Amino acid sequence: MKTVRLGATALEISEIGFGGIPIIPLPRDEAVSVVRHCLDLGITFFDTANMYPTSEEKLGIALKPDRGKVVIATKTAQRDAKGAADHLELSLRQLQTDWVDVYQLHNVSNEDALKQVLAPQGAYEAVAKARDAGKIRFIGISSHSIPTAIAALKTGLFQTLQFPFNFIENDPVQELFPLATQNQVGIIGMKPLGGGLLERADLCFKFLQQHPYVVPIPGIRAEKEIDEIVGLYRNPQPLFEADLTSIEEIRSDVGEKFCHRCEYCMPCPQGVQISSVLMLRPAAKRLSCENVKGWLGAAMETVEQCIECGECEQKCPYNLPISDLLKENLALFNQYARC
Ligand code: SF4
Ligand code: SF4
Repeated sequence: MKTVRLGATALEISEIGFGGIPIIPLPRDEAVSVVRHCLDLGITFFDTANMYPTSEEKLGIALKPDRGKVVIATKTAQRDAKGAADHLELSLRQLQTDWVDVYQLHNVSNEDALKQVLAPQGAYEAVAKARDAGKIRFIGISSHSIPTAIAALKTGLFQTLQFPFNFIENDPVQELFPLATQNQVGIIGMKPLGGGLLERADLCFKFLQQHPYVVPIPGIRAEKEIDEIVGLYRNPQPLFEADLTSIEEIRSDVGEKFCHRCEYCMPCPQGVQISSVLMLRPAAKRLSCENVKGWLGAAMETVEQCIECGECEQKCPYNLPISDLLKENLALFNQYARC
């Protein structure tokens, strides 16, 4: 596995990293075994977050024997200094380590959130203090909003940026990534497979290999998944004309108003299963009617519970008109499900 330097940090990491969400539902021993398999293949960069239940503990167990050889990134979604300091201590305990290599402020995706973390007594203050005390090596930020990420980078306070990046979410190449690279900010690419929406790993990673300044962190839940990805890096291929055509077809299937399944809008106080309902359109394009009904039927029934309170729309970093989309998807489902 080739290694790359993460921006201007002193961190040399494998050219692909490990995203820590999919090990959440795995039994502990299975999760540890998947992580150890990744290590055996040469993966040395592991990303997780305080808010991913059990992910830090499982990574802590798996990585402890090799702590000196791996780079661990984790995150806090706390916005104030006390909350962030408490989260860091918890992460250190769960990860069984004395230090975190990259500590990121999690999902800073609007102006208010950025103001809160940078305010006096905000999360950044606690994180900077912890860095000075040797508990953190570098400070990063994760975001789903280009304007907020640009504003954050312009402060000069962050050494890494984590942002969604794949061939259907490629807007950051216009302004955000050039700004990051000019300032030697290390870029970590979340959702290289569109959060599970994109099934063709070959296309996804061929696309990402055109942007080697981004370190993708695919979420891995099984050994065969990382085997396939590592194979694509050991034997890199260009994007052929047929690949570009396939990418365009998939982009047009998915459309602009697609839900990124980040689940920041959840939970809905009325129990609406928002992200599942919004999966309908891409699912209907790929799956049989029977499968769609079996998979999404129960979620569709929750749409009637929506009282249009708007709470989810305030939390969606992509400003999706969720109430309208719920209705549209239900209408489509009712039409489609007459099979
Ligand atoms: S608008 Fe509907 S789906 Fe969104 S939080 Fe309110 S009740 Fe839930
Ligand atoms: S509706 Fe918005 S916040 Fe909710 S999962 Fe989709 S993209 Fe994320």
